[in-house]
Amino acid sequence: MHRPGRPFLAALLAAGVLTACASSPDTAGTVPSTVEPGTTAPTTTAVTTTEPATTAAPTTTVPPVDPDAADIPDGECATIAPGAVGFRNDTDARADEYVAIGESTEGRTIWSEHWGATSGPQVLVVGQVHGDECAPAFLVREIRTHPPTEFGIWLIPTLNPDGLAAHTRRTALDLDPNRDGFDLATPEAQALMAETLRVQPALTVHLHSPYRWVGAHNGPLASQVAAAMSASVGWGYPYNAGRVQNGTLAFLWEGQELVIPGHQSVLVEFPAMAAGESPNPPDLTQRRETSVADVRWIARRMRVALYEVFDEIARGSADG
Ligand SMILES: [Zn+2]
Repeated sequence: MHRPGRPFLAALLAAGVLTACASSPDTAGTVPSTVEPGTTAPTTTAVTTTEPATTAAPTTTVPPVDPDAADIPDGECATIAPGAVGFRNDTDARADEYVAIGESTEGRTIWSEHWGATSGPQVLVVGQVHGDECAPAFLVREIRTHPPTEFGIWLIPTLNPDGLAAHTRRTALDLDPNRDGFDLATPEAQALMAETLRVQPALTVHLHSPYRWVGAHNGPLASQVAAAMSASVGWGYPYNAGRVQNGTLAFLWEGQELVIPGHQSVLVEFPAMAAGESPNPPDLTQRRETSVADVRWIARRMRVALYEVFDEIARGSADG
């Protein structure tokens, strides 16, 4: 009689306030098609070091090496297209803090990494939700190689490590984690809600593929960031990220509203890099494919656009 998520959510929330009102996913906006890759500064080449396997980490650690290296599977994303990267940290950079925020059904740790300033606004970035979506790894890598300085980012490189290992959209429970925002039947969705409560982010950025658009959810900050990120790659005016509107199913950003009333989110849908990336999304007609080089360029531009908005907010709050 109880849905699995309710006791969990009740335990999470000091005061549960549901502010979800129905609004239809808006598909207004135009999508210009000219995007010219290749104008970026050369990317920093990562120095690969052989890292000794870390032993099981306690909840919060500042380990000498990145626990990702031992804990996050390579998956097919590391090889799906020439030059593609996976969600493991293949850079020399190390986060200032690693927090284990949950454990997947198959027993993999779900990590959250802190980059940048510990004071000022904090942004939560969910790198991978669906295990067969690979392009978001490039924005994950951008954050690791170019961490913010004026504000902070809590980065969950992959929320679905079981799906990453198996190259499946769904979790090991055969559930779509991005329809589990209300039920919280998956440990993955539970981990995100607990991290949302802990971090109290000013904004959450959810990374997906393969549709090639940016969406905003729930307010002016989300709209501002989504517009800046979308414009930075020539994709025009952003869409609304939307609501599932199907029974109790809900996107993760809808579930976050139960944790922080009115919480604002941005959804980035990267185009896929190869035929094997997200081959069967819910709406196949929206599927787009591009090159690894293009995705690398998109990730760079979007990271810069995100930082510009939050640098200004951080400086404003410091001045005020
Ligand atoms: Zn997705």
